[in-house]
Amino acid sequence: MKKIYCSFFGHEFKITKHVTRHVKEFKCRHCNKQFTTDQSGNLTELTPKLKEINAVLENIHNRRLLKRQKQYPELLVFRH
Ligand SMILES: [Zn+2]
Repeated sequence: MKKIYCSFFGHEFKITKHVTRHVKEFKCRHCNKQFTTDQSGNLTELTPKLKEINAVLENIHNRRLLKRQKQYPELLVFRH
């Protein structure tokens, strides 16, 4: 029944995870189907493989953020 609702009205997405600034994971409020955006911003079904890729992306993204935070104080140091 819920799936029929979605095929008539479309899925209603709820963001479940911010992977990177451009990649997010979504879940439909009605059928609980999971989706994700790929690097080019297209919405695709969240497969176990994509979930794995997102986990890696998230890891890289977080590490990059941390690195930037660590690097930032060095920018304030004047070096000859
Ligand atoms: Zn749905």
